[in-house]
Amino acid sequence: MAETDTETATDAVGEREHPDKSPLAVQEAQAEAEADERPKPGQRAEISNLDIVRHYFNKACDRLGLSDDLRVVFWSPYREVTVQIPIKLPDGKVHVYSGYRIQHNGARGPYKGGIRFHPEVDIDEVRALASLMTWKTAVAGVPYGGAKGGVNCPADRLDPGDVQKIARSFMDKVEKILGPTRDIAAPDINTNAQVMAWMMDEYGKLHGHTPAIVTGKPIALEGSYGREAATGRGCVYMFREAAPHLGLSPADTTFVVQGYGNVGSWAARIMQQLGATMVGVSDATGAIRNDGGIDANALHTHIGEGGTLTEFEGGEEMPAADLTSIPCDVFIPAALGGMIHEGNAADMECKVILEGANSPTTPAADQILRDKDVYIIPDVMANAGGVVVSYFEWVQNLQHFRWDEREVNDKLGTIMRRAYREVSARAREEGIDLREASYLVGIERVVEAARTRGYI
Ligand code: NAD
Repeated sequence: MAETDTETATDAVGEREHPDKSPLAVQEAQAEAEADERPKPGQRAEISNLDIVRHYFNKACDRLGLSDDLRVVFWSPYREVTVQIPIKLPDGKVHVYSGYRIQHNGARGPYKGGIRFHPEVDIDEVRALASLMTWKTAVAGVPYGGAKGGVNCPADRLDPGDVQKIARSFMDKVEKILGPTRDIAAPDINTNAQVMAWMMDEYGKLHGHTPAIVTGKPIALEGSYGREAATGRGCVYMFREAAPHLGLSPADTTFVVQGYGNVGSWAARIMQQLGATMVGVSDATGAIRNDGGIDANALHTHIGEGGTLTEFEGGEEMPAADLTSIPCDVFIPAALGGMIHEGNAADMECKVILEGANSPTTPAADQILRDKDVYIIPDVMANAGGVVVSYFEWVQNLQHFRWDEREVNDKLGTIMRRAYREVSARAREEGIDLREASYLVGIERVVEAARTRGYI
């Protein structure tokens, strides 16, 4: 049953409706829907991130035989806060953004999760990401629960001064439910070490200097060495564990990156250090390819100096929609959710998908890719490196003691390898894929913690 019950519970709050109900808008929306129900290759899927996570959660619960009542407990978030963020922009108007902080499950420790600034943020997306964090921290074995936050502002198109106002205003409004032993924030899309510094500073005005309130801070403000690279590095550690079993040698590997931001560019630069070759890459501005190799370091420097990806001379501009069909060994989604879907999965020509992004693959695409024997290292384990080094940063902050980068990276490697081995052993035992196995492992650990505490 729980499938239906769970759906009913979340649908009651989760249905998306088009805000514009004028006859023209309704007709246009209908025409669009009828024209082609499948998303085009470069678009995001119609299915929401919440539906994607719910599908995988339910599948794992079916296998675990988790009862209907418990399934509702572990699916629905513990606490949801929505806040209003009004801000006057250079056009002279007050723009009202919505901010969310959702604490999904805290059985295993304080809530932990990033804060995303993106116009497509909505409460369902934050719910999905918060739930993923619960399973991810459990799979990695770090003592945290799962949370996520977001503001639906176009931060990449705003002045830094306005982004700062939004970051401070958001913190002012959610600080009551945060705390270094309650809920700890971190960066995500369009938020970085600078944004974390503003948030820490704002929290400190009310509570005194509290570096452990956010992770992913600048090194100058008690950030951890290795945190910025951690998610991309963790993805590469996972790939290195998998490679020998797949007959791949990292030095001879070709790869494509979708989304050249923090996760994508670090994963690319570390893959390149191992001798691998990047043959295609995209970001929000477009895509380029070069079968002879695109220099990941030079591209990073070019973008850091204000250049756009498509102007980079080391590659040829191509339609972003065709990126997914470039032949390669490893495809690394590192942008938004739902970008690998039934409209492009069948044309993918890679051996491995290394999910740096959260929820990049819809259930329909997952099935198509499994039928093609593509090996998927899923988000819930592949991109856990960020939260693992966030955990190290938090531990260092609580001790007011700093580790050097080698120590951080070594400890990260140990945890990522252990998670890979535990999940892949479970996958082998049960004859299932890594995604289902990682959800099984994550859900079991959370259920055990809740049971031991006496919650259920
Ligand atoms: P970021 O803002 O640094 O980078 C996002 C990149 O995606 C940018 O280069 C942007 O231009 C690009 N992008 C946006 N829309 C795109 C599109 N339609 N097509 C291609 N590229 C597009 O964000 P990030 O921190 O690197 O996060 C990327 C993904 O990784 C997200 O799904 C995030 O949830 C996930 N993630 C991040 C962390 C972390 O530590 N930062 C940890 C775990 C998971």
